[in-house]
Amino acid sequence: MRKNIALLGATGSIGAQVCEVARAFPDYFKIRVMTGNRNITKLAQLSDEFDPDLIWVPDEAGADLLLKAKRRRSREIITGQGGLSVCAGYGGADFTVNALVGRAGLVPTLSAIESGKSVALANKETLVSAGSLVTEAAKKNGVEIIPVDSEHSAISQCLAGSEAKHIDKLILTASGGPFRKWDAEKIRSAKAADALKHPNWRMGDKITVDCATMMNKGFEFIEAMWLFEASPGQIEILVHPQSVVHSMVRFTDGSVIAQLGAPDMRNPILRALSYPNRLKNDFKKLDLTECGALTFEKCDDERFPCLGIAIGAAREGGTLPAVLNASNELAVGAFLRGELGFYGISDIVGRAVSEYKNKPLADIAGVAEAEAWAEEHFAACMKEAV
Ligand code: NAD
Ligand code: MG
Repeated sequence: MRKNIALLGATGSIGAQVCEVARAFPDYFKIRVMTGNRNITKLAQLSDEFDPDLIWVPDEAGADLLLKAKRRRSREIITGQGGLSVCAGYGGADFTVNALVGRAGLVPTLSAIESGKSVALANKETLVSAGSLVTEAAKKNGVEIIPVDSEHSAISQCLAGSEAKHIDKLILTASGGPFRKWDAEKIRSAKAADALKHPNWRMGDKITVDCATMMNKGFEFIEAMWLFEASPGQIEILVHPQSVVHSMVRFTDGSVIAQLGAPDMRNPILRALSYPNRLKNDFKKLDLTECGALTFEKCDDERFPCLGIAIGAAREGGTLPAVLNASNELAVGAFLRGELGFYGISDIVGRAVSEYKNKPLADIAGVAEAEAWAEEHFAACMKEAV
């Protein structure tokens, strides 16, 4: 039976690949809802092609531009933050794909869950800032959070059929990013253009910088804690530059199960959309005789301090990971605009995490409060630097 999808963030890197998968399997998937942000031209093209029932843009100016750019005229366009939540919980969709970037993803994830929709989740920031609230809400509403992130997709496949008491370690692999072989001095002077040259994946700018700092792996550490109910001590990070082994699980008897595949996000996306089914496809397959040696190494915490900062915040819990997430998003934005050096990101985020007075995470208002604190802290740090 064809599955109806509400796609949040259709115009981004993951969103475009969700569209590719839907295009390749028109008998299996129908995109009923699409949202974009500022790239109205792309949203117009996609909505003309997929003809969703409902389209979201942030404001009326965007809606006017979209109406001018679209060929099809008949569909409903909605705007405003409330509209994004309406899209997330759209009644005509079987499930929601959250491919938004950053803090913008949390409220829509909760809206989808509260409307009884399972969520194929690319927006890892949702689980970083409010993992306990999101996983509790999913349990309460009887819906699933299906990972899109390649590492977590891999781990969920490695875990299939196993018992929790037999799991020893979840081993997340990391490519190591563009600066894996750079010395600290060279990294210090890295510019946005250097950080945006990821060796294996083409992704949105924010996550590409998060990969360069290794914050992305810290976020994935936290994501794994919530998705798989793992303690921090059960998760390990290994740098694997070839991005062929997407992650592994070691069991208590020492046996290790790994999931391998070509480094192509369409694979975990297809897995999430078709879950628990598997669909035969034409995507390029992994050829182990061609991919060369597979190597693994430890991450260098000195050159890449963000990973340790994130793991520290994960161990503390409460509203601290929401501060980590917001502070990082602000610092990465400043780095991308050329206002902050590369190590300025870890300096500001490290300071935020150590200066914040942590609180238990009770509700979404607690996340908003922590984010507001991080914004003030960030503004003060930037002022100091001038
Ligand atoms: P992207 O920047 O390419 O796309 C982000 C999407 O979100 C766009 O459609 C944009 O219009 C929309 N958006 C941005 N800000 C918004 C706002 N304030 N309100 C509403 N919409 C907004 O990002 P991406 O690389 O596709 O990443 C999306 C998410 O998936 C991130 O959380 C990222 O960490 C995760 N992820 C991405 C990849 C990848 O290969 N790109 C892999 C694993 C996980
Ligand atoms: Mg990943």
